[in-house]
Amino acid sequence: EIVNFNKFFNRIIDRFELSKSQNVTFQRMLPEVPYYVDIDTDKLTQVIDNIISNALKYSPDGGNIRFGIIVKNDLLQVMVSDDGMGIPSENVNRIFDRFYRVDRARARSMGGTGLGLAIAREMIEAHGGKIWAESEEGRGTTIFFTLEILLDEEGEWD
Ligand code: ATP
Ligand code: MG
Repeated sequence: EIVNFNKFFNRIIDRFELSKSQNVTFQRMLPEVPYYVDIDTDKLTQVIDNIISNALKYSPDGGNIRFGIIVKNDLLQVMVSDDGMGIPSENVNRIFDRFYRVDRARARSMGGTGLGLAIAREMIEAHGGKIWAESEEGRGTTIFFTLEILLDEEGEWD
């Protein structure tokens, strides 16, 4: 399905912003011009839902979650960044492994299965994209993923 990614992303962010119970502020740094992508919207919704729920789960009271889109040639680079507890650098790449959770104590108190990001990686790779994380312990985590941009020469999608 061909969708205006900005619009699609904003709708998902809106849903979380309206229903969140934490004192966390959302900051959107999203372009005004539309970027079109050809995606399975159910699967991408599941990917973004997991990334945002992780960010909320690990955000401190009064924290911020930043949403960004960077355009690099024909790629959209999407980012979700939090001010949470972060992930030790030796473990950052393992968060995309099945059932991997950073530490058992943290995992027990937070619930979940440890599958969310493994599924996200499968889905993003099935769309021809990449997903990765950058994190600093005690400072926060940013999850990035890429999608290929469709060129809208005729201006015919919306
Ligand atoms: P599920 O998504 O299946 O409910 P989960 O959230 O524990 O469970 P993943 O979404 O795959 O599983 O995340 C794997 C692990 O990566 C988490 O348990 C957590 O330890 C760590 N993690 C993921 N996102 C963040 C984040 N934003 N800040 C800190 N740690 C994170
Ligand atoms: Mg999760």
